[in-house]
Parts: sequence; structure tokens; C-alpha cells
Amino acid sequence: MAKYIFVTGGVLSSVGKGILTSSIGKMLQTRGIKVTVIKIDPYVNVDAGTMNPYMHGEVFVTDDGGETDLDLGWYERFLDLSLKQENNLTTGLIYKSVIEKERRGDFLGRCVQIIPHITNEIKNRLRAIARSSNADVVLTEVGGTVGDIEGLPFLEAIRQMRLEEGSENTLYVHVALVPILDVTMEMKTKPLQHSVNELRRIGIQPDTIVARSPKMIDAEALRKIALFGTIPETAVFCSYNADSVYQVPLILDKQGMGDFICQRFGYKCSGADFTEWKHFVDAIVKPEHEVNIALVGKYAGLTDSYVSMSEALRHGGAACKTRVCITYLEAEKFEQNPECINDLKNYDGIFVPYGFGARGTEGKIAAVKFARENDIPFLGICYGFQLATIEFARNVCNLKDANSSEINPDTPHPVIDLMPEQRGIEYKGATMRLGVHKIILEKGTMAHNLYKTNEIHERHRHRFEVNLDYYEVLTKNGLIYSGKSTDGRRMETMELPNRYFFFASQFHGEFRSRPGRPSPEYYGFISACINKKMGKPKPTFS
Ligand code: GLN
Repeated sequence: MAKYIFVTGGVLSSVGKGILTSSIGKMLQTRGIKVTVIKIDPYVNVDAGTMNPYMHGEVFVTDDGGETDLDLGWYERFLDLSLKQENNLTTGLIYKSVIEKERRGDFLGRCVQIIPHITNEIKNRLRAIARSSNADVVLTEVGGTVGDIEGLPFLEAIRQMRLEEGSENTLYVHVALVPILDVTMEMKTKPLQHSVNELRRIGIQPDTIVARSPKMIDAEALRKIALFGTIPETAVFCSYNADSVYQVPLILDKQGMGDFICQRFGYKCSGADFTEWKHFVDAIVKPEHEVNIALVGKYAGLTDSYVSMSEALRHGGAACKTRVCITYLEAEKFEQNPECINDLKNYDGIFVPYGFGARGTEGKIAAVKFARENDIPFLGICYGFQLATIEFARNVCNLKDANSSEINPDTPHPVIDLMPEQRGIEYKGATMRLGVHKIILEKGTMAHNLYKTNEIHERHRHRFEVNLDYYEVLTKNGLIYSGKSTDGRRMETMELPNRYFFFASQFHGEFRSRPGRPSPEYYGFISACINKKMGKPKPTFS
């Protein structure tokens, strides 16, 4: 029978609940305990797919094509799991399925209510994941902040879980901000006390409290948190600012949190084995080299928009003992001030990420051109791949005004066009080409050398693709499509063999990138950046 850990947050959001939940998972996993993780997002959207990354950060894509909250990305990276769409619950999803049941007549004669119908649906889903994952411990992170109106049905459901599963099988973790006032340098626990009170009002007494603070909390703050939280001091932990988020499991484990949870669940574990994890963390925090990467995007104001990509770049960096410094640049800047493009020569590599719509695309195309002409290592992902094709079509193949029909439906040369199966689709939710698809790599290409295999499986999220009508002219001019779908009709990777490193993919390697096992395209890019910086010959990866 699975045990359940519920993580709630207080005072304000973005306090690091996702990293804390992942870290708790890691502490258990390193003790041989099998875990899975669920994220609850109390918004009314059915999934994250239709949300602007500027508001909520990136949409994380699972193997099975779920468009989910970015926290699933943290769980996957920390715990090396491959989660499913069902691991992300939203208010929209829960209500949709209860309303469908009501329409079907499942509740015939009864009045359908938040309690018990909505709360039962939530609990059923948590238990279904416990069963299907076969996990010893199911971690559930409740998004938002305790006290939010939309979070209440979820908190009520997890409150009932203790009653039904028993207190020996459930654990409530509450994390809240403990700010330090810059005038007096005092640690302030009052906001945390209030959020614990709010949680109690809902009927949940936390078993352990994690103070999220810029520094390790002092004895006085710890004593107050324990006293007002009604928990022993040994159940209070502190997640303080670290150089890297990957240090958080080590920080908490050192304070005894892993042992505390195991004791609480009656697990007799020998100590945690963090050997591999520490090895990776060392490479991240004590690098030997450094590279500067320009990320040219359209959501540059919010780094969470590109979190999986940024982490994949760092994973690649760790494998070359290299710190990856990323500068997030708004592509539109290069449209408004074209001379700014020359600033890109100050970077060791140029990266063009995913994106949608026309805004900023000319700026991104200018960045691709600059990379190609100045032979600066380049990596393009999804839209970056499509825009690199457009740049090549315009400036090498002389196809004037070549474009994607997404950007200009009237372009004379739609080198990127809507996938045929996308025609006629009106609904926006969950209708892109999503999730894992197989890709065949051609022997002798850089892609094949990088991945060292004929066949790879990578995640996707797009509606447009390379238009085969232009295949001949593009390849005749020197562009190589080294990776293709199994039927050979879908272009998945491109490379320019006469450049130091110029690579792009239609798929998103970042979603499967892991600490210690970086995505090969990201690793190839960073190692090319560092090699070029050190004046070494072009890497072949073979
Ligand atoms: N907008 C492009 C498409 O839909 C690229 C999508 C992306 O970058 N994820 O095909």
C-alpha cells in the first residue's frame, strides 16, 4: 500500500515548492524507496497547453503528449522519472470529468456537489496513480498558496486522505517564506505562522515545516516555527538560497529531513546514497570553464518560459565541467535596432528556442543568420529549427521572402507549412503533434555521431513542419536533414556540415535531458562552444 506526502505552500507562490517536492523525492529515492509525483494546479484550464508561457512559464511535455505544468519537469529531472499526463491534475480536468459523469447519468437522482463528488474524483485519481505507478510513496504538490479559493476542494480532499489512509501513511509538509528584513537583518516567521494557521483552519495540521529563507534560519526562528506550528523542533527544516537548485536535496538531507520522513513512515533504511548526484552537483557548482550563451526568444522577460531548455544547457555544461551563463535576449530588439545584432559576437553560442506566432521571428532569423555567417555555434529547437530552415532558404537558396505559413500565410515560399493532419482542426487544446515519436538518424551525419545510434525517441509539440516541396532545393544547397520520421516524410534534425557547429531539431531534446545524462544535442552544442572558445578544432563527436 502506498504512502502519501502532501506538499502545500504559504505566504506567496514561487517559493520553491516544486524544487522542495522533487528534493523530498530525491531523499527517499536515494534510500531505495520508489516514488512518483503528482502536481495539482487549481486553475480552471484543463491542462497547461493553452496558457501563455509569459504567465505560467513553459509548458512541459510528457512522453505521452501531456501538456503539463513546468514542475513536472523538475520532478523528471530530479528523479529521472517519465511521468504521464495524469500526473498533473487541474480544476478544469476534475470538473470536466465529474460533469461528463453527471451527463452520462452516473449520479442519477442525486445532487452533484463539491463534497463529496469533486473531492472523491480528486482522491480516486491520486489512488489510481498510486496503483498504476507501483510507487511506495506518492508525493503530491498542491499548487498555489494555502487560502486561495480555488485550492480549497483539493485541500479538503487531501485532508480526507489522512482519515482514510491513516496517519502512519500520510505526511503533510508545509513550506513558507521566512524573509529577512534588510533594515534589521531579522528573520521574520510571522507570515509563516499565519499560513500555518490558515492551513489548520482548513483542517490540516502540518507534520513538518520547511522555512524557505535566504539564509539558514537561526535557533530563535526555528524555535518559534516549532512552537507556533505545534511540531517538534526536529520537524523544522530550512531550504536556504543555494548556488544551484540541485543542491537542495543535499541541504535538506544534511538537516535530517530524509531520516525524519523515513522514521515517520516506519521505514528501516540504511543511509542515503547520493554519490552520483553529488558528482553531478560538483560539476555544476565547481566548473573548470565557462561559456556565454545568447538565448534569443520572445518570452525572454520570464526565464521560467525556458526552464527545461536552460536546464538542458546546464546538464550539457556539467558534462564538460563548464558553467553555462545564459543571457535571455528579446528577439524584437534586433528588429527595432538591427545594428544590435553585432552584440551577438560577444557570445560563445547562439540558441534559438521554441515559440509561436509572428512576434520576434524576424529578430530570431537575424540571429540565425549572424550565427551562420560568423560561424558561431548554433542550436535551434522546434521554432528555432523552422526559422533556421527559413534563414537558409532566404539567404543561401535565394528564395525571396521564404517563410512559415504560420508567420505569413501569403508567403511565395512556404518552406515551413502546416502539417496536413492539422488542417481543419479548430480546437486549440491538446491538438498539436505531441509527445514521443521515433526518429531515424542517418549514418555518417553529426546527429548520428552525437546520438551514437540509428533510432531515437524524442518529445514534440508543434503544428508546422518542413515543406517537402522544398526538400530538393534546400539539400542541394548544402543543408542536411540528418534525422527524419520513420516514413521519411518529416524532417526532424538539420545540420550544416561546413560550419563549426550548426544544428537544429524539430523535437525538444530538453524534455528528456537529465542531470548526468544530458540531451546529446545540448551536450554537443555546449561542448562545441567551449571547444571553439579554446581554439580547438571542430568536434566530430564520433
Ligand atoms: N510554432 C511552431 C509550430 O507550431 C513551433 C512550435 C514550437 O516551437 N514548439 O510548429
